Amino acid sequence: MADAGQVIVPLRGALIPVPAQPQVGVCAVCHSSAKPGFATCRPCAEAARLNPPEILPIALSVHGGLLHAHLRGYKDSPSVTARDRMSLRLAGVLAMFMAQHEGCIGEWDIATCVPSPGRVALQPVVTRVRELAGRFRQVLAAQSDADERTLDPEQFAVTEDVAGRRVLLLDDTFASGAKLFSAVAALRRRDAVVVGPVVIGRHIQCGWPPSADLLSWIEERVWSERRCARCAGERRSGTLF
Ligand SMILES: [Zn+2]
Ligand SMILES: [Zn+2]
Repeated sequence: MADAGQVIVPLRGALIPVPAQPQVGVCAVCHSSAKPGFATCRPCAEAARLNPPEILPIALSVHGGLLHAHLRGYKDSPSVTARDRMSLRLAGVLAMFMAQHEGCIGEWDIATCVPSPGRVALQPVVTRVRELAGRFRQVLAAQSDADERTLDPEQFAVTEDVAGRRVLLLDDTFASGAKLFSAVAALRRRDAVVVGPVVIGRHIQCGWPPSADLLSWIEERVWSERRCARCAGERRSGTLF
């Protein structure tokens, strides 16, 4: 891939950094907004029985924003050229993140994507990233009748032996989380150790009051590939730098 820093230029200004946690108003699992007095957002509370891993979003993705447009358009735009352009930019974001935050993610053996029935939309993006391509294996397959809105490990078949393997789980967007958490559960049932999960965008609905409150202080801050939610997430009381 061409220089990732150049590739992401049109998208960079639209990337919103991710808040650190623990922090009042920030979900302890997915780094989205949580109602004051609650440790997690509602989707993550619903996954509590799973003991969900902390999600590592690269940026917040506001509904209707440019990152949101990329996260939809890279797979569904009717224009091949537009799909390719958006895929390349998303690969650039992922590449910069992987290069800078290896230590934040932890060690892993296999990288794999959360698939949908009939396709693994993120795979062509992931395999453009040098840090991921060499150890990429698609070990999850989505069942054709999967209901992505419910947390159910039966949504996914694990297609090879992953027992004891550290699987870095990747997805484009985290919204309700049901799909990603189902993938986590499916891998754990086969005794894999789930690493990450890393998602490019944590989807934010600005009409939801706790999200509006979060965006009011974080939206104008500058995203940097040198910082992530784990090593230097944003804090309401001020940034670390
Ligand atoms: Zn959450
Ligand atoms: Zn980091």
